[in-house]
Amino acid sequence: MPFAKLGLSVPLVQAIKEMGYATPTPIQKQAIPVILSGKDLIATAQTGTGKTAAFVLPILERLSSPKQNHEKPTLRGKRVRVLILVPTRELAVQVASSVNDYSKHLNLSSMVAYGGVDTEPQKQRLIEGIDILVATPGRLLDLAHQRAVHFDELDVLVLDEADRMVDMGFVGDINKIIDRLPQNRQNLLFSATMTDDVRALAYDFSDSKMTDLA
Ligand code: AMP
Repeated sequence: MPFAKLGLSVPLVQAIKEMGYATPTPIQKQAIPVILSGKDLIATAQTGTGKTAAFVLPILERLSSPKQNHEKPTLRGKRVRVLILVPTRELAVQVASSVNDYSKHLNLSSMVAYGGVDTEPQKQRLIEGIDILVATPGRLLDLAHQRAVHFDELDVLVLDEADRMVDMGFVGDINKIIDRLPQNRQNLLFSATMTDDVRALAYDFSDSKMTDLA
């Protein structure tokens, strides 16, 4: 089955072709239509299964759809619309690099924010306006406390490698971040393993009925 059949449009299909992907992986086949429909999703997916593209591609499709761009043409891009929370700096860099690759034919901006480095350049880029922010929880909270990041136009929240975030003790930080987000948003959670703690986190952050691929 080609990617276009999953509901992805030309700029994304072109980027996928340039990456050399021939067909969607199983998690991509399952998750892409659900995410395009706007539903919340919880899914088990190991690294190496193509899980990053499984959420990044449909998110990019939704952000770039003409309908959304028409809503507020001048304000769009000034506020974070997609937040992807990841446990580590390494994963943050990897996910941000995928976002860059897949969005190369789209007019969307993205950035990565993690701890252990100066906050100033990150704050500066946020002021310039970012559509997609990939971040680790601690640094994101720092930036939020400094009022460097605003979530009033947030459409989508992704928790990637949720089991590692639980193991690393990020649940408190994640809940503080969620408290700052608009209620009306799409929630996506990916985890290599599905423990009770991860499920509890998912059901905490999602009010609506989730599609469960776990
Ligand atoms: P991930 O599971 O997101 O860590 O992705 C693992 C690797 O698979 C990455 O190097 C991707 O570039 C690659 N990949 C993702 N989707 C596909 C696909 N449909 N066909 C071939 N490779 C893919």
